[in-house]
Amino acid sequence: MARPHIICACCGRSGRIDVNGWVDACAKRWRKAGRPTEGPPRPRSVTPKLARLQGIWLPVTDRIQVRVRRVGHLRARGIPIQVIARDFGVCERTIERYAAAHRHLTSQTQQKAAA
Ligand SMILES: [Zn+2]
Repeated sequence: MARPHIICACCGRSGRIDVNGWVDACAKRWRKAGRPTEGPPRPRSVTPKLARLQGIWLPVTDRIQVRVRRVGHLRARGIPIQVIARDFGVCERTIERYAAAHRHLTSQTQQKAAA
């Protein structure tokens, strides 16, 4: 019988179940990592499709990537979102999105450095 489709407990993607409520890709990463008790390691990179599924907005163009880095630095220095938004001439939601993307990208970099 075909394996049922699930929403992966690890990454939120849909696919055929493998073990522990994970799809093939996540179960494969988990086995490759030596079956750690904490579950599959995070994917090395977040594809635009995966980011969309997880509700993460990621910058695509260079110009926006520069802005995302700049927002990350300003936020690290404690500059309020409202001030940055006024400075950039965009709405606060955009700055929140940039800040979230920066956090996400930074956490990926740290994971790579730790690995
Ligand atoms: Zn998964």
